Amino acid sequence: MPELPEAETIRKQLVPFLSGACVVSQRTGPYPKIFLSGIPDLAGWKFSDPGRTGKVLIFSMASPGGEPGVLLTRLGMSGQWTVSDPQNPLNSHTHLTFLLKTRDREILLSYRDPRRFGRLEWQADKSLSGILQTTGPDILEVQARYFEESVHASQRSIRTILLDQKIVSGIGNIYVSEILFEAGIHPDKKGSRITKAEALRILESSRTVLTRAVERGGSSIHSFKDAHGEAGENQIHLKVYGLDGLPCQICKKPILKKESGGRSSYFCPLCQSKRKKPSA
Ligand SMILES: [Zn+2]
Repeated sequence: MPELPEAETIRKQLVPFLSGACVVSQRTGPYPKIFLSGIPDLAGWKFSDPGRTGKVLIFSMASPGGEPGVLLTRLGMSGQWTVSDPQNPLNSHTHLTFLLKTRDREILLSYRDPRRFGRLEWQADKSLSGILQTTGPDILEVQARYFEESVHASQRSIRTILLDQKIVSGIGNIYVSEILFEAGIHPDKKGSRITKAEALRILESSRTVLTRAVERGGSSIHSFKDAHGEAGENQIHLKVYGLDGLPCQICKKPILKKESGGRSSYFCPLCQSKRKKPSA
């Protein structure tokens, strides 16, 4: 499922197509009501540089009269925005398409989502919308003090805290395992027992793991495809996710897999030992 690196990969790839592009026409697919929330007819509206916070893509737009509006996308399990030639046939499971006029040609921008857990939302004013109301600060931009305090105040496991998008946004099932392995912290350790040094190490590991994944175009584990329909490359560099039974790259102990709440957690029982003393 798309997490921060996958959303950022799509955002970066859309910049050269969307900036200044004008909507000629739009079409909705067969299942619009499920997740297209209040999107008006945007013919004549112009896109500016797409933004992102956590896993949410933010398309800022302006009407022909200059009024602002924002199209927000939570990609869910299998959501993807792609750009293509208007002559090409549409993929199945395409729910919304915009025919766009860029400086030199027309392109098609399509939202596809086979599993339909994603959500698109239109926001006409500056008030926080449903999606952004439940989206905390981006993990790559969060202030260290807020992060430490939020972690410390919780009796939940550090893994559950990092997955809670209201506290900090961008991390999902793949990268939570990778980040905690990088930081050498057991996924079940309670937030209240995470020291200040450990909290800072988690932030640093998040930066390292997520930035590298963005450079590799994201991880294509289940279905992720970028804005050109291509797979990412980060999946071959994962160190624990999906690697249960294989030797840890550091200590050679087998990686363990633990199921909790329908999600799988992967970790090294030695490098991420609960009793491990935090290194300064
Ligand atoms: Zn290990």
